[in-house]
Amino acid sequence: MSRLLLVTGGSAGIGAATCRLAPARGWERVVVHYGRDREAAEAVAEEVRAEGAEAHVLGADVADPAQVVELFAELTALAPGPLDLVNNAGIVAPTGALADLTPERVRRVFEVNVFGAIEVARQAVAYMRAHAGGGIVNVSSVAARLGSARQYMDYAASKGAIDTFTLGLADELAAEGVRVNAVRPGLIETGIHAKGGEPDRLARIGHTPPLGRAGTAEEVAESILWLLSDRAGYVTRSILDVGGGR
Ligand code: NAD
Repeated sequence: MSRLLLVTGGSAGIGAATCRLAPARGWERVVVHYGRDREAAEAVAEEVRAEGAEAHVLGADVADPAQVVELFAELTALAPGPLDLVNNAGIVAPTGALADLTPERVRRVFEVNVFGAIEVARQAVAYMRAHAGGGIVNVSSVAARLGSARQYMDYAASKGAIDTFTLGLADELAAEGVRVNAVRPGLIETGIHAKGGEPDRLARIGHTPPLGRAGTAEEVAESILWLLSDRAGYVTRSILDVGGGR
């Protein structure tokens, strides 16, 4: 049976680019997961179908464990089979220094980026154990390495947690043949920057990455799908920077 690709946050940005590219990279079945924007997810699914693959759309707030459990129950009913997971859904809070990092803000960032990603992985691995496993790619950020002082230290810390989680999960699953890796995107042109309160961010620091430009969502998608592919069959426990040298 052909492998199934589940992309969380597949309705926009890096997740949507990964869904769109998946048929060309060999996936015949794609599940576009979304948080709130079902319409956008449906549009991505339509593009996946136009590439000749089967596409499904499933919603869940990854920060709500009950919704994540329901997501995998729906997945089991819809499309059982070997699963590859792109743990991509994430948020960034507006730019701010330490004084801006209120408990409410930090809690939400960690609820989505860390608790959500861990619960999605937990349910996905249970699914893999029942239906055969593929691989997992967690989407981190170069912020995990840089720290991002006075910008979004809470976001950076949440991605640091994802890096460490990736290592532990890779260790646990290696004996089962499930490879676990992460990508650390740098400055990538997606809508997340406007949500972070920095609509002019690309214009302001777009020249900063050593490669001289912001990256595209498609460039991150290529790395994600390579890590999940058999061509990366001996790669696990790796964290790949896709940051233009940043
Ligand atoms: P985006 O805002 O375009 O996409 C984020 C996706 O996550 C959306 O589909 C959104 O609906 C989903 N999402 C957010 N909160 C959710 C929730 N509670 N439940 C379910 N879905 C939820 O941003 P993007 O740039 O494509 O980001 C994708 C990933 O890449 C994120 O994890 C982000 O931290 C990471 N990243 C992005 C950049 C960048 O420069 N764009 C850099 C480093 C890391």
